[in-house]
Amino acid sequence: MSELHKFLFDGLPVRGMIVRLTDAWQEILARRASNTATGAYPPAVVELLGEMTAAATLMQANIKFNGALILQIFGDGPVKVAVAESKPDLSLRATAKVMGELPADARLPDMVNVNNKGRCAITLDPKDKLPGTTPYQGVVPLFGDDGEKLGKLSDVLQHYMLQSEQLDTTLVLAADDKVAAGLLIQRLPVKGEGNLEGTADKEHDHDQANEDQIGRNEDYNRISILASSLTRDELLTLDVETILRRLFWEEKLLRFEPQAGMLGPHFACTCGRERVAQMIRGLGEQEAQSILAERGNIEVGCDFCGKQYRFDAVDAAQIFTPVGDRAPGSQVVQ
Ligand SMILES: [Zn+2]
Repeated sequence: MSELHKFLFDGLPVRGMIVRLTDAWQEILARRASNTATGAYPPAVVELLGEMTAAATLMQANIKFNGALILQIFGDGPVKVAVAESKPDLSLRATAKVMGELPADARLPDMVNVNNKGRCAITLDPKDKLPGTTPYQGVVPLFGDDGEKLGKLSDVLQHYMLQSEQLDTTLVLAADDKVAAGLLIQRLPVKGEGNLEGTADKEHDHDQANEDQIGRNEDYNRISILASSLTRDELLTLDVETILRRLFWEEKLLRFEPQAGMLGPHFACTCGRERVAQMIRGLGEQEAQSILAERGNIEVGCDFCGKQYRFDAVDAAQIFTPVGDRAPGSQVVQ
């Protein structure tokens, strides 16, 4: 069962989280493998998309925000786009578009950053947004401060979190065809969290105080080094209790109730016939008619879950008929 564990380091300005996706991740891979149009993901893409899915879950769980967190990579190599989405109820879905062949040992730059033009976008899409509001989006390149291509997704995201939150963050990510897992360690803001109240330097504006702390907090640095010693193999094969004991046996952890089952990370897709109808409406009537003339019906498959939506000429006519003019009892939604 997929699970998320949150913890604090007692008395220290550091928190942590570990996610282990098993059934939820296998479901995503099984749906892709059974899609006859695409077939299964190549192993290197399994690793990339699994790491993204684990990271999206950690990032969602790490912020107070009522909406979807969408982690996207727009690649300039064989992987054109990869998307992982996590919602506040920890439901998740992911997909990637792959063009052409990939060696099994392809690394991040080989997949998405061949010409150093790939980029990573993090979008926060509020659940109850007012019409006209655009979701917040942060975009970071896939190279470091000196233009060097970053080899790991965790490097890209650590960079993003340092920039966007002014907080040191350590991420360890790993995925194979059974498990997608991640460990996040983050320095807490100087103000705002209960166990740190009163320790902040009152003379400082707290943003400045946070910035001054980057890279300087000894407790965080020690715990970060411990976290970084976790290997890919350990993260994929060991249970959460064993990992935490091995890494932090000298630290005092305050654990929260683990989130698992339907309260934990789980696969869910939010696609629906009405959304596909809207998309067809977006194509315009002329384009829709020309597809109908050519193929007899319009078929749209969901990239996330594989569900197929089919619209025949009558369904399509409904889409382009204003609601008031429709025959009594007719509807576009099934
Ligand atoms: Zn779907």
